Amino acid sequence: MTALRDLINDERPSFSFEFFPPKSEAAARTLWQAIRRIETLAPAFVSVTYGAGGSSRERTVEVTKRIAAETTLRPVAHLTAVGHTVAELRHIIGQYADAGVRDVLAVRGDPPGDPGADWIAHPQGLRYAHELVRLVKESGEFSVGVAAFPERHPRSADWDSDIKHFAAKCRAGADYAITQMFFHVEDYLRLREKATAAGCHTPIIPEIMPATDVRQISRFAQLSGAAFPEALAHRLDAARGNPADGHRIGVEYATAMAQRLLAEGAPGLHYITLNRSTATLEIHRNVTNTRSTPHDLAAHH
Ligand code: FAD
Repeated sequence: MTALRDLINDERPSFSFEFFPPKSEAAARTLWQAIRRIETLAPAFVSVTYGAGGSSRERTVEVTKRIAAETTLRPVAHLTAVGHTVAELRHIIGQYADAGVRDVLAVRGDPPGDPGADWIAHPQGLRYAHELVRLVKESGEFSVGVAAFPERHPRSADWDSDIKHFAAKCRAGADYAITQMFFHVEDYLRLREKATAAGCHTPIIPEIMPATDVRQISRFAQLSGAAFPEALAHRLDAARGNPADGHRIGVEYATAMAQRLLAEGAPGLHYITLNRSTATLEIHRNVTNTRSTPHDLAAHH
């Protein structure tokens, strides 16, 4: 199997999709319908997020292993350092290795409950994401991704320290980065420029979040610290009683952003699906129809 870093470094863009572990049987059915539809597009990879604790974490491992065993997709397992000893982290990484999963997105995670609360490392655990990158890399032949922040990480005091710590993840062996959600292309371009100036040439894949529902997106934007464009908020607000309009507005905005990002040389697009495929598939169809023929896409994979 080609290493993910090689697929991402290929000159054609990589397309990928993100899921979260389902909380119920019904949610699992919706997720698997989305997975099966996305499978037909032969994306470069799909990723599964890692929860704050308990059973959601076990479901991440389960879903990731099932994707590896039962589909043609390449799963990337998100992993965080929250509440884990190094021995536990090694155990989870070992489970992935045994299941043939060779891709991990190493992020530090936020304090459970209140993401803005003080971060307290587990006494036998890790403190920063670059340490987790190193741990995964030491544990086998993994391609490792990391998080990047187009509006800088909310805990970083300034850009210099933010980029210095991002570059430390690159030096620890990160093969690629995926951004936090953002809504202004300029923020991505600035981050890329700053990372390059700091000597970090790790490809940075922008995350695309379809903003179709103003309440949901404001909550996400607030949690992640992403600045949500006022004009888009107004348009979505005006469409509040009409979900079809909200959907169209969100898809149009994300399509335009995605097209511009690729034109600016982004190495790929990572779509947030929220475990549904409708909006992301529309955006993806719009983007690929204007860029390449189905033959080009098939040749990529
Ligand atoms: P780090 O790189 O460790 O950075 C955290 C903060 O510490 C930054 O301000 C950084 O500048 C600072 N820092 C780093 N190193 C040092 C140092 N040596 N000295 C002082 N300060 C330092 N969360 C989940 O819980 N589950 C998920 O599945 C998940 N998936 C994500 C996927 C993506 C694409 C992204 C962008 C985020 C994801 N997150 C997830 C959220 C992420 O865990 C949080 O944003 C977290 O606050 C930061 O993680 P990080 O890996 O960037 O941490």
